Amino acid sequence: MTARTQRSFGDRAVLYWSAMLETLNPATGEVLATFPVHGSREVEAAVAQAREAAVWWAGLGWSGRRIRLLAWKSHLTRYMARLAQLVHDETGKPLDDAKLEIILAIVHIDWAARHARRVLRPRRVRSGLAAINQASTVEYHPLGVVGVIGPWNYPFTNGVGDAIPALAAGNAVIHKPSSVTPMTALLMDEALRECGLPDDIFQVLVGRGPIGLTLIDQVDMVMFTGSTETGKKVMERAAKTLTPVSLELGGKDPMIVLADADLDRSANAAVFWSMQNGGQTCISVERVYVEEPIYEEFVAMVAERVRALRQGVPGDFGSVEVGSFTNPPQIEIVEAHVADAVAKGARVLAGGQRLQTDGTFFEPTVLAGVDHTMACMTEETFGPTLPIMKVRDADEAIKLANDTPYGLQASVYTKDIAKGEAVARRIQAGAVVVNDANANYIALEAPMGGWKQSGLGVRHGAEGIRKYCRRQTIVLTRFAMKKDLYFFPYGKGKSEFLVRLLKLLYGRGARD
Ligand code: NDP
Repeated sequence: MTARTQRSFGDRAVLYWSAMLETLNPATGEVLATFPVHGSREVEAAVAQAREAAVWWAGLGWSGRRIRLLAWKSHLTRYMARLAQLVHDETGKPLDDAKLEIILAIVHIDWAARHARRVLRPRRVRSGLAAINQASTVEYHPLGVVGVIGPWNYPFTNGVGDAIPALAAGNAVIHKPSSVTPMTALLMDEALRECGLPDDIFQVLVGRGPIGLTLIDQVDMVMFTGSTETGKKVMERAAKTLTPVSLELGGKDPMIVLADADLDRSANAAVFWSMQNGGQTCISVERVYVEEPIYEEFVAMVAERVRALRQGVPGDFGSVEVGSFTNPPQIEIVEAHVADAVAKGARVLAGGQRLQTDGTFFEPTVLAGVDHTMACMTEETFGPTLPIMKVRDADEAIKLANDTPYGLQASVYTKDIAKGEAVARRIQAGAVVVNDANANYIALEAPMGGWKQSGLGVRHGAEGIRKYCRRQTIVLTRFAMKKDLYFFPYGKGKSEFLVRLLKLLYGRGARD
């Protein structure tokens, strides 16, 4: 990988179909490295090698895998600064945001390495009277080779991060990172080898969407993180081979601020969770509903704080709060949403335009006077914007929060925790946080996954590891007689006896 010249983003389109792929620092336009793009032959070879490696890896057992995963964790801890720098270079995000990605991975490896055994140990299943002669156990076996396809916004957390539970469950992983951010994944490939894993347990394929499709055809499961639109294509392709998929897709996360909320906390949280990582987080706060009595005050507080944010080419820790877009074309969606809102009567209280620099930057922006006729309130924006809408009461806020095809996350702010919980239960989203927003992402014991068009399946928690396994139910017959009552030959007396027995056991209603 060699650092080279500066290149304008327009040139990128020309390279799209070429056999080489360039990685840019999107904050400066500097070309960081060029890579050859893998083709279908490389995909086939990678899968074949992964299949062999998976047998060795599964055969290592819990303690063998645990030792190696914990060595990987120590490696990440030791080289955190180098890794954060690389994530920062290829994403244009502040070092502070990049460091967070590595920390999340370290915590995740630690959790998965220590808990995989407990989560995947065989479970005895107690059956009812009908199966009194059977003793059932559910066992979990690794799937084999898992394909992990990741996005550009969190190359570490959402790319490499999804390999963690798959590896902990005993699988080999082939990771296709976004073609915008392949360097972090390639560095991990190197790191895992340094930690004593064989070459083929974790492999990286460099390329664009079509490589992802070829991968889907050959692996035993696909873990996909990306847009809802691509997620549907992934599912369609996987249907051809009935390959299981787990999909973590887009969102339009609402934040509800009730009249009794702590205004300082709500305003600070709204600014942080909408602007952190430049708003390029699937669980960013994308829209806010505020009860009428506190609307003007809340909006003024948020606008003042957003105007105070520092933006620019990120340097050392603490240099700026908001960096550049990681994927430069994203700025066009953000510009279109702001222009559409303004054309329909929204007020811009902070920011509102792109910066004229070598990188791709859009000012942190606050929009007031918005409603659901505007794209900024109904479509995923994925940038540093915060539209804030006035609502009559909690009922209207909940109705509008649910007026979306997405259902990833949501947040509710109130000093009355019981009220917050009651509101949370009425929101159609995979996770709802009271008086915070994305805090659940570090609660690795709890599952996280979208409702509606935000996804299928979950990451984290026991289910986040079990999904990388085949379940097998082993049933033992307690008393293996020559013949059970229901075996052939059929007979009137025998059948009538069985019906009477069934009525005796199950015939009573709820009030008996
Ligand atoms: P995309 O859907 O554009 O791409 C995701 C990955 O899929 C990339 O590696 C991409 O390759 C690959 N890909 C593209 N086309 C295909 C295809 N036909 N078959 C298989 N793979 C394909 O998402 P973005 O990278 O733009 O990421 C942003 C999106 O991700 C947002 O919508 C965001 O909400 C969502 N996201 C969701 C998260 C969650 O946990 N729910 C977390 C993070 C992001 P390439 O681009 O290289 O061609």
